[in-house]
Amino acid sequence: MDLPEYAIEARGLTKTYAATKTTPEVQALKGIDLAIPRGSVFGLLGPNGAGKSTFINILAGLCNKTAGKVTIWDRDIDERPRDARAAIGVVPQEIAADPFFTPREALEVAAGMYAVPKSERRSDELLAALGLSDKANAYVRQLSGGMKRRLMVAKAMVHKPPVLILDEPTAGVDVELRRQLWNYVVELNKAGVTIVLTTHYLEEAEQLCDRIAIINRGEVVVCEPTASLLKRLDVRNVIVSPEEPLTAAPVLPGFETKLLKSGGFSVSYRTGQSSVEQVLAAIRASGLHIKDISTEDPDLEDVFVSLTYAAAS
Ligand code: ADP
Repeated sequence: MDLPEYAIEARGLTKTYAATKTTPEVQALKGIDLAIPRGSVFGLLGPNGAGKSTFINILAGLCNKTAGKVTIWDRDIDERPRDARAAIGVVPQEIAADPFFTPREALEVAAGMYAVPKSERRSDELLAALGLSDKANAYVRQLSGGMKRRLMVAKAMVHKPPVLILDEPTAGVDVELRRQLWNYVVELNKAGVTIVLTTHYLEEAEQLCDRIAIINRGEVVVCEPTASLLKRLDVRNVIVSPEEPLTAAPVLPGFETKLLKSGGFSVSYRTGQSSVEQVLAAIRASGLHIKDISTEDPDLEDVFVSLTYAAAS
């Protein structure tokens, strides 16, 4: 059989969480289209609440979509749910390890759940690959947090899925362990495994991913090769304190402004398109008098807002 062009493809994917007595309805995914090329290391980036976990939970079969079509390795998750799920391994955000198993037992149990025949199991190989050989027979509760996380990666790989999904894999993982984990992920990718990882660290995505999609509020803001995305992330902020505190952000044609608690405001601009000079000229033209001014690099949230704004305008 031909290998699929895309490891994962979502079309018009929508998820609405119903309202409860205490919470309103939430549109977590608003009809997103995403195509994840086979063989890529694909970063799914977005601030908290963007919809990343919802997307992954739908792929993993932990959450039902409201509408849209999803295929994993060309297998429709509605038509062939078992086959679709057999093509992915998911490393969840939360560490959920059974304290009464040893790592080797945990891998055997996981392989059993995927009906991997004994002759095809490779628990020891996986333990070695993740630096857990000397803990193979320890109780999981005796492992450090980093070891538990590596065990979760091994568990996700017991059935040799062609796609590995890591949900916020390095939250709470120290630098050395992060490096080890990434080395293994890179090795897997070289061996042909498609990697999808969610993160809210742009830097992490920059270093590892060849393609990045940014989602915000349930919508895909951009999806492109990392190199071309980085070129567009040239947003800078100018922080302005006017002589008189303001109660609303000023309107400056061509720039996005935001009121600050201090009564000042920030103006974001793109270094590739405008200069601080032009920002200052726009402020002066609006009749405002500047008391003080500074610049700052944007955080990821600003980048999302700016890209969303650029996409909408
Ligand atoms: P992310 O992983 O990017 O932080 P999530 O997918 O967890 O985002 O959340 C997207 C939105 O859906 C958020 O507004 C969140 O509050 C909401 N949400 C997530 N899970 C549930 C749920 N089980 N019930 C209701 N709302 C949810």
